[in-house]
Amino acid sequence: MNDNISALTRRLESENVRFSTDDKSLFDASLDHMRYSFLPDVVAYAECGEDIGKVLKTANELDVPVTVRGCGTGCSGGSVPTPGGIVLDLGAIDFIEIDPVARVAHVGAGAVTANVDAAAQKHGLFYAPDPSSHKYSSIGGNIACNAGGLRALKYGVTRDNVIALAAYLPNGEKLKCGLPVKKFSVGPNLRDFFIGSEGTFGVVSEAWLKLLPLPQSKKVAIAFFDGDEQAFEGIEKIMRSALQPSILEFMDADTIGCVRVKEPSLEIGEGKSAVLAEFDGFEPEAEASVDMFFEVLAGCEVRRAKDAAEAEKLWSVRRKASPAMYMLGDSKISQDIVLPFDGVAEFFRFYKKLGRELNLATPVFGHAGDGNYHIHFMYNGAEDGARARAVRGMDLSIKKTIELGGAVSGEHGIGFLKSKYMPLQHGKAELELMRGLKKVFDPKDILNRGKIYEVTDTSGMQPLRGVKLPWD
Ligand SMILES: Cc1cc2nc3c(=O)[nH]c(=O)nc-3n(C[C@H](O)[C@H](O)[C@H](O)COP(=O)(O)OP(=O)(O)OC[C@H]3O[C@@H](n4cnc5c(N)ncnc54)[C@H](O)[C@@H]3O)c2cc1C
Repeated sequence: MNDNISALTRRLESENVRFSTDDKSLFDASLDHMRYSFLPDVVAYAECGEDIGKVLKTANELDVPVTVRGCGTGCSGGSVPTPGGIVLDLGAIDFIEIDPVARVAHVGAGAVTANVDAAAQKHGLFYAPDPSSHKYSSIGGNIACNAGGLRALKYGVTRDNVIALAAYLPNGEKLKCGLPVKKFSVGPNLRDFFIGSEGTFGVVSEAWLKLLPLPQSKKVAIAFFDGDEQAFEGIEKIMRSALQPSILEFMDADTIGCVRVKEPSLEIGEGKSAVLAEFDGFEPEAEASVDMFFEVLAGCEVRRAKDAAEAEKLWSVRRKASPAMYMLGDSKISQDIVLPFDGVAEFFRFYKKLGRELNLATPVFGHAGDGNYHIHFMYNGAEDGARARAVRGMDLSIKKTIELGGAVSGEHGIGFLKSKYMPLQHGKAELELMRGLKKVFDPKDILNRGKIYEVTDTSGMQPLRGVKLPWD
């Protein structure tokens, strides 16, 4: 342990901040969902906002880098302590208070997303952002990454659902950003700096979140198409119509082909792609929306769920998509790109051709109404050169996405794993301004060092294999 780390642990001890330096704690805090592992020197566990302030102030004075951690479900290495130093774990700040009159949830940064929703539901309300990781991710992590989710099409992403927050600057000072009131027009709302900046500007300690009345009814339908291009045409028809789905999920023919083999009881035809839709609202409105879904997609095979059991069966097509695609390779490189509607067909022609040229399978699923697609290059880990081909395929796909006016990431963020794409996405002026802002918030660069703004060469890095995480 170097001198600064020893001084830091002594200070944490004297300030009653819980911390650990045992091997298991250090390993658990060393990686996120992507499994690139960098060991920290210390893990500190904040139990209240004041603990966050104490850790940051001490680390700042001693020049020890701090990496912030919610639940570690991130998909871009954001919570991975690449420079060593201290991991600041916020999992214990998990209080949840519901105000059913203001329709606001006041929550600690470590509150698990699904627990916030469950607490709201007891009052006939719900919290709309629903990343697929909602049973494991924290609100602080969702805010930091501006997480999306299946319902983003109708209800927006995390940014649209955060009313106010409190955050600690890297020097340990506390900021109140906005107020938990309906309207706030008192200068720039500092809240927005902390949404989507992945913990590089400060540490979110608590937030006030928007809640909505629980819809009375949800109706599910699924449409099968003869191929991907036909599905994209169907999606365009839906988006041109008066329909307002809460969820609209696309699965390409490669993905559906895997689901079909894994679940023959779903009786899916060969070569089909699919679009799953959910409509919510009052019962007659949701029912009428499904009728209109049939009309808009006349000529396609459309199935509607008559009850909860049938809805679950239709949903299982989407839920099986991610695990089923491992039939096509034991490893994958994936990104969550966003495409403008007029670039979707061209992108997928390019990407599928690239997959054939590289001899790699390219299954896709995604949030079709948002143009947010999870693209994959599947490969076999033991095959020489296969991973390098997958990386090349992804780099070319990202370049094409940007050429078409799209974005590198819709919801997962940049971390260090995708920082190489920042100069492709942003011009010099934008990058300089972002780096300037980082300096204003964090002049000593102690917080989430090496993330987003600095390009990290990841070519020699390998994810760990065989590590089981709680959500696997
Ligand atoms: C199976 C699976 C499905 C997923 N599905 C989705 C999806 O549908 N939509 C989606 O958007 N994402 C999805 N994700 C990605 C991930 O769950 C989200 O990015 C989530 O927001 C991360 O939350 P976390 O608490 O795990 O954050 P972590 O992984 O711990 O951290 C993520 C980033 O946030 C920073 N951070 C964490 N807490 C704070 C805080 N309080 N203050 C400041 N910075 C902080 C970290 O430093 C890091 O940069 C999925 C991940 C998995 C594993």
